[in-house]
Amino acid sequence: MQTVRPAAEYLKHLEPYDPKYLPARIYLNANENPFGMPDQARKELQRMIESEPLHRYPDPLAKHLRNTVAAKLGVAAECIVLGNGGDELLFNLCIAYGGPGRSLLTTPPTFSAYYTDALLTRTKIVEIPRASACSATGQLDFSIDEQAILERVSVGDIDLVILTTPNNPTGDCLTLDFIEAVLAATDAVVLIDHAYIEFADPGYDATSLLKKHANLAILRTFSKAYSLAGMRIGYLVAAPEITQELCKVRQPYSVDALAALAALAVLEQEDEVRLQVNCIISQRELLARRLGEPGLGLSVAPSEANYLLFRVPNAQAVWQQLHESYGILVRDLSALPGLADCLRVSIGTPQENDEFIAALSCVLNTRAEP
Ligand code: PMP
Repeated sequence: MQTVRPAAEYLKHLEPYDPKYLPARIYLNANENPFGMPDQARKELQRMIESEPLHRYPDPLAKHLRNTVAAKLGVAAECIVLGNGGDELLFNLCIAYGGPGRSLLTTPPTFSAYYTDALLTRTKIVEIPRASACSATGQLDFSIDEQAILERVSVGDIDLVILTTPNNPTGDCLTLDFIEAVLAATDAVVLIDHAYIEFADPGYDATSLLKKHANLAILRTFSKAYSLAGMRIGYLVAAPEITQELCKVRQPYSVDALAALAALAVLEQEDEVRLQVNCIISQRELLARRLGEPGLGLSVAPSEANYLLFRVPNAQAVWQQLHESYGILVRDLSALPGLADCLRVSIGTPQENDEFIAALSCVLNTRAEP
């Protein structure tokens, strides 16, 4: 055959996911933990691999890890579903609660995977856009429109709500009062995407609301604070009515044996992980100040996550120069609606952050010269 028939019609306008993963010296583009796995966790993983029967299929629900996570959160094991990263769980959620004739409410600008998942599952997207303002002090404001969200979910035709807190890429968090108001206003599943919650003030953690609200689901990942982006493992916490539906649609062996072991190994080193997270948080505050200080004088969005969104004239050219001249890769979001001239930088090690600030200063100063 010299030809192949076209793929499904709805894929026509979809682009493959492209995070512009270019070779670089310093990666500040994907919100990873720059310190890597704690040494003890890596050693423990190596020890565990020795006795793991890799020729056997893994336990489909990764029971050992599931029980460990459940005990840590103080919930029943039935409330946890593990997945191949948060990405798989988001897709499964759209399969289970979206689909033709059903709707997903989002608050752009936010994580792009929600859009792809909605498109692939033919779920209608209902958007309640965030503010896009800059205060007199140079802080970017991307706050959500609480009233509009509450009014929209109260109509009763939304099947799935995704609220990201801290939000990617803006970094802001939602109050628990607002989350509770949404949970009370609808019987739709409300997914609180907590991929970055370890970097936020503990007062933003919505886990305590699980006891009161049957329609709450919380997404967590080992990719960020727990330094396992390369292993692909995350989990969702919700009432068994919801996790049961997710178990129906999941790929049986999406959580491989090594990913489950790695997650167990990092959970045993919580203290070390906390030290890394604390360093990332203090570096975030320092970097935010340096970006906003006279000299650079850029507008920055206050962040509770491990990245900062800032606005810089000619963002695309700045992104390119940082990469080409200095080998520093940040994320260019400037082509997205509401994010004109915005770049997102992940918080790196103190040395990486110093290099980033020095490089950015050079790029901006060089460009200012006649
Ligand atoms: N949610 C948000 C908001 C994210 O930014 C990401 C990763 N970029 C994820 C979920 C999924 O992360 P992972 O698949 O690595 O667990």
